[in-house]
Amino acid sequence: MNICVVGTGYVGLVTGAVFADLGNDVVCVDNVASKIEALRAGQMPIYEPGLEEMVARNVADGRLSFTTDLAAAVRRSVIVFITVGTPAKDTGQTDLAAVDDVAREIAQAMERYTVIVNKSTVPVGTGERVREVIERHQTSPVPFDVVSNPEFLREGSAIEDTLRPDRIVIGAPTQQVAMTLLELYAPLERPMIITDVPSAEMIKYASNAFLATKISFANAIANLCEMAGADVSQVTKGMGLDARIGPAFLSAGLGYGGSCFPKDTDSLIHTAATLGYEFALLRAAVEVNRERSGHFVALVEKALAPLDGKTVAVLGLAFKPNTDDMREAKSVEVITRLLTLGASVRAYDPVAIPNAATVLPQDTVFCDSPYAAAEQADAVALVTEWNEFKFLNLERLRKVMRRPLILDGRNLWEPERMRRLGFEYHSIGRKPVAPA
Ligand code: NAD
Repeated sequence: MNICVVGTGYVGLVTGAVFADLGNDVVCVDNVASKIEALRAGQMPIYEPGLEEMVARNVADGRLSFTTDLAAAVRRSVIVFITVGTPAKDTGQTDLAAVDDVAREIAQAMERYTVIVNKSTVPVGTGERVREVIERHQTSPVPFDVVSNPEFLREGSAIEDTLRPDRIVIGAPTQQVAMTLLELYAPLERPMIITDVPSAEMIKYASNAFLATKISFANAIANLCEMAGADVSQVTKGMGLDARIGPAFLSAGLGYGGSCFPKDTDSLIHTAATLGYEFALLRAAVEVNRERSGHFVALVEKALAPLDGKTVAVLGLAFKPNTDDMREAKSVEVITRLLTLGASVRAYDPVAIPNAATVLPQDTVFCDSPYAAAEQADAVALVTEWNEFKFLNLERLRKVMRRPLILDGRNLWEPERMRRLGFEYHSIGRKPVAPA
């Protein structure tokens, strides 16, 4: 099938590469010319395991190409995916400017029946809005349909998630239109659900809001555990074994960040308000999340009191492991606060340092290994739970530190092991331990 994907970010590039890998003829479009040039030269604009190889393979086989020429790409395609960014405005409302721009350009380019698929995360009603924008900007009345096909991939495992999604949601105006998408996705052999367009749009927000609430619930329980002397890891393990609850997204820590949960929760609260519903439950989940960085820095401050003049090694900068994405990363708030309180910060991340350097305060010192970051540090603060940190040589880490103090914002290590290794160890929702 001839497919066009507009937007070559995390979603668009991965979607384009996977559809090409399934044997389709895919053109990926972006309006940032430097991005397209880099992609043509085989350079990935994002870090995503397995992506570079998949792109290279499909480009070499002639199934995947890159262009800034949206009109030409649309004219040769049966299906056009919109995968541009939908950031939040200050009010929490979703900014649909990029979606509107693309819809207008598609309208002006279309010469024959086309299925326009919205994969960007957009508020309920956007499918209808895209249809109206296209109708308004068509130069001649060419038939088309608008489908909602929300994306659920996670950065860091985007290829795997796209190849093996838990479900594929197709919100289509008619069964016949849905069939076009069913056919495209059929080779994946994954569960598909066909809905109307607004319901598909709502499924995406409801899912993200539910997961964000689950994380905040675990963090609220962690706060209680700290007060009551209970261990949140044992509590959430006990909860997660209940099949009705499940263990995923039930870990206490610094809370969620990234390009999706914060903006999607704000957007749903805004949509609800617009519709006349006060979504107090989701507001509370957002508030619990907002307090996490402050809570963690207070932990660091208490352990190091005073913070002024102390050196803190921060391990992990990306908003989560296996990505270089710094959008809404907790490291930004944590490091900014530590610096404001007078500490020096030596930071390390396996891949996010180039992006981090553009958003973190200038006083941050970047190091090329966790051990270099911990050199003469008064404390190590773990912010992002990269697997690499799980397998650190902790003896070596302790030896280079000035004081063997670890503050674990993600409950990555076992308190008893840290105690035996000679650390003073503080984590989230668990009792601190002193060195053996
Ligand atoms: P991104 O910012 O990484 O990529 C968006 C791309 O669109 C950029 O390359 C940008 O240059 C391009 N673009 C913007 N306007 C354009 C235009 N007018 N014409 C052509 N290209 C244009 O964004 P992303 O993370 O891939 O997210 C895209 C959408 O998917 C968002 O709605 C997001 O909420 C949703 N989503 C993201 C994820 C994720 O993990 N990143 C997961 C699920 C859903």
